[in-house]
Amino acid sequence: VINLRKEEDFSEWYNEIVELAGITDKRYPVKGMNVWTPYGWKAMLLIDAVVRREFNRRGNSEVCFPLFIPEDQFSKEKEHVKGFDEQVYWVTHAGRNELDIRLVVRPTSETAMYPIFSLWVRSHADLPLKIYQIVNVFRYETKQTRALMRMREIHFIEGHTCHASFEDAERQISEDLQMMKAIAQALCIPYSIHRRPEWDKFPGAYYSLGIDTIMPDGRTLQIGTIHQYRTNFSVPYNIGYENEEGRREYVHQTTYGMSERLLGALISIHGDERGLIFPPEVAPIQAIIVIIAGGDDHGLAGYLSEVREVMTAAGIRFEVDDRDIRPGNKYYEWERKGVPLRLEIGQREMREREITLCRRDTGKRIAVRFEALAGTLVEMFDGIAQNLHDRASRFHGSMIHIVAGPEHLTTGVNRMWWCGEEKCGIRIEEISGASVLGTQEDSSTDGEGKCTICGRTTTLMVSVARSM
Ligand SMILES: [Zn+2]
Repeated sequence: VINLRKEEDFSEWYNEIVELAGITDKRYPVKGMNVWTPYGWKAMLLIDAVVRREFNRRGNSEVCFPLFIPEDQFSKEKEHVKGFDEQVYWVTHAGRNELDIRLVVRPTSETAMYPIFSLWVRSHADLPLKIYQIVNVFRYETKQTRALMRMREIHFIEGHTCHASFEDAERQISEDLQMMKAIAQALCIPYSIHRRPEWDKFPGAYYSLGIDTIMPDGRTLQIGTIHQYRTNFSVPYNIGYENEEGRREYVHQTTYGMSERLLGALISIHGDERGLIFPPEVAPIQAIIVIIAGGDDHGLAGYLSEVREVMTAAGIRFEVDDRDIRPGNKYYEWERKGVPLRLEIGQREMREREITLCRRDTGKRIAVRFEALAGTLVEMFDGIAQNLHDRASRFHGSMIHIVAGPEHLTTGVNRMWWCGEEKCGIRIEEISGASVLGTQEDSSTDGEGKCTICGRTTTLMVSVARSM
């Protein structure tokens, strides 16, 4: 058992649990670049699989673009370059030779992809162009790094689309939000959608939507972003097509970004003082079979192989722990790693043709008949996912407050009246010492109030929070 409660000292708890559960190894000598362990990487790949399924289902095709971007190509969209200026790594030499044109190690792939998009998109028939890739990107992070949350080498999921019109790009954004819903559902993660304020949108974007979840200490974590670019990139990168009248038009573009923060959020939201709790859909091991050794075998091996057969046929990711150590020690270890379900098999279970099941989320133990095993497992996984989802949603809801003004800031997300002016928004940040997340997209505001700074009548509310 970990001697830390996440509600009391989230930071310590998080660092400890990522380590103890064996997700990443932080001992690599470059800060912000962790080693993924087999268990952690399996979890990430299962999340990626959900992401791939959702992209593919909506007609987005997976691609893979180069890691290096030539400096002149990188510099074409002015806001974008400015925004990433202090964060990019440079390649200046190849062997002993200094390069004529320096290379940027991609911090994101707009500028790697868009010159190629200008070759791919020729006519109306080439649109929409919908692609995505899952690759590592590099950003020189100056704030303190944290496993899976603030990295310099980022496991990045990026979707890029080109459309004939602004309206079509807007439809893409609605589709992206549907995709976010499906992904969050698999991870049992609640979130709010905020339209980021002008001063905090993605460099080069027309507008940005942030997908924000809430950590146990009340800080928000951005787990996804969706951007409408309009023609901000297609003009400098010359991505256009001939319309039906034979006139040249620039495409409208969107992007969608996510990262290993999805896993970081999952760990933070569902874990407890015993360790991680994985939602069954993305659990590297969905069930662990613990053998309670009772002296001689007396046919236990035969019973175990029957159970294995049922599990395999049901398509469950499971392992068998038959090590010769105390069952209690085995329990702790698998609880720490967040395995959603434990099966206990000993002499008694074999005699009665039963299996003892124990849920990681509730600790509840029940005995089931061997014949009912397959059905019960499916039911239990659904029950665990539902419980994790409900628990997390209750917490998320309880952390959103309506407050009178920035001087009344409390933990979590604070919503207050705002006229929409940047000047007042900046003042809210100064007074509260927190960040303006933007206006909430997925929750309407009732009635009207007065801007907490200038007193003007408004129908807008802004969300303010300390963020990770
Ligand atoms: Zn105002």
